[in-house]
Amino acid sequence: MSKRIAVLAGDGIGPEIVSEAIKVLSYLNKDMQLGLTFDHALIGGAAYDAFGTPLPQQTLNLCKHADAVLLGAVGGPKWEPLAHAVRPERGLLGVRSELGLFSNLRPAVLYPQLVDASTLKPEVVSGLDLMIVRELTGGIYFGQPRGVSKLENGEKVGVNTKIYSESEIRRIAHSAFKIARQRRKKLCSVDKANVLECTELWRQIVTEVGKDYPDVQLSHMYVDNAAMQLVRAPKQFDVIVTTNMFGDILSDIAAMLTGSIGMLPSASLDANNKGMYEPIHGSAPDIAGQGVANPLATILSTAMMLRYTFQNEEAANRIEQAVNAALDSNVRTADIYSEGMTKVGTSEMGAAVLNALKAESAP
Ligand code: NAD
Repeated sequence: MSKRIAVLAGDGIGPEIVSEAIKVLSYLNKDMQLGLTFDHALIGGAAYDAFGTPLPQQTLNLCKHADAVLLGAVGGPKWEPLAHAVRPERGLLGVRSELGLFSNLRPAVLYPQLVDASTLKPEVVSGLDLMIVRELTGGIYFGQPRGVSKLENGEKVGVNTKIYSESEIRRIAHSAFKIARQRRKKLCSVDKANVLECTELWRQIVTEVGKDYPDVQLSHMYVDNAAMQLVRAPKQFDVIVTTNMFGDILSDIAAMLTGSIGMLPSASLDANNKGMYEPIHGSAPDIAGQGVANPLATILSTAMMLRYTFQNEEAANRIEQAVNAALDSNVRTADIYSEGMTKVGTSEMGAAVLNALKAESAP
């Protein structure tokens, strides 16, 4: 049975990094007869330019009928003056919500070869392996009312609403506990329950759900402390579960612990493990079109796709091992470059992973 992948390259560096990921995945597809098929569609600014909307109906239909979605990134200065409703980022939020991708997994793993690329001391980050589980379809990014309006006195006010229902909290909590169970069995729930009633409920429900997972050690932390602890002693964490906005911010902090945002993949899953896979970084307009972006986060996202949607641990491991081997060969894109290494561009880094894959499968 064929396994359909919708490929949405998007904007900025999106097409450059996705093209490398597809080369790697296509090779493995042939080598392991995975039965993957690829269909390409526009999203974000590129879709707006072509169709006047960041999420054309045909793109959404393709995603709905696919088994998994591979996304590059969306956005860029060109589209910033647009109304919010048609900004590139709305296309991405639209896919997440239309597909019900509520559980966003963001692993932060420090590859030993990159210990010097982190701005933190090696003893603080070496061996780092944590997972942030971010709620993705609720909270302040979706809550109503929202918008900017004028008061009677003519002053403008901006409003967004942080709202979570009990069922939304319950399902992301289950997702996080299950992942913690497969790892070191420690879950830290991050909230701001001392100030925000919405997250007081969050804490209460996560605690309740925790009764179903007595083998997982549950702790709670306020988000300001969590931000501090992530840079002070990040190895205390195994799995972190948190709200949409807190997860957005904390996972960028976690990204820097690993040396570069260009190394971090992510998975966004629905209740049946259908998922969208994308690097956690954006479209990097400052380096777009230069062929210097790091494709490894996108390549590693395809490994997550094989693991979580297609349940193929062996294929996922092969990609991760090939990334490891490419780093062992001392090639580095600019974002993870350190002295003594060989600086390469996007396609050379992709080729290094591909060559490592080929070497693995050679008799
Ligand atoms: P960004 O992640 O695009 O870039 C932040 C910094 O990291 C930049 O200096 C960039 O050059 C660097 N960087 C990012 N990815 C890299 C890679 N693979 N290799 C090397 N360096 C890399 O964030 P930003 O600058 O805040 O946002 C740029 C645009 O991307 C905005 O329009 C924003 O809305 C959008 N964005 C999209 C997504 C997404 O598509 N999921 C996520 C975040 C931001």
